[in-house]
Amino acid sequence: MFCKNCGKEMADGTQFCPSCGQATAQSVSTSNGTVKLVVHRKKSFYGCAVGTKIHVDGQLAATIKSDGTATFDLTPGTHEVIFDMWSANEKTNIDLPADCSAVYVEIGLKMGLITNKIKVISIRNEK
Ligand SMILES: [Zn+2]
Repeated sequence: MFCKNCGKEMADGTQFCPSCGQATAQSVSTSNGTVKLVVHRKKSFYGCAVGTKIHVDGQLAATIKSDGTATFDLTPGTHEVIFDMWSANEKTNIDLPADCSAVYVEIGLKMGLITNKIKVISIRNEK
């Protein structure tokens, strides 16, 4: 391949041009390769005004209400995601494959006899 800055030839897969130091497409696609994690909370009447706290890798990342959506740019790999509502936690490990552009997670309220909690309804990967 050839450097897009100075035009010098270099070995395929090189991340920086040895002649001028310009970053090649290879380095851009690997270092900026984040995957979108899109979480949507299914619309529900019950508990609609109560926020669901979303923790990603131990950090509070967003709070969404009924029919709300939160989007995170994350590195590919497995992330621990906790959905917290009424102090009932749903913990899930979500895998973000590097060859996907986005992973869509649908969550919703599940009614229980003692506790009502948020559950993961579906996870869908988009190439
Ligand atoms: Zn160059």
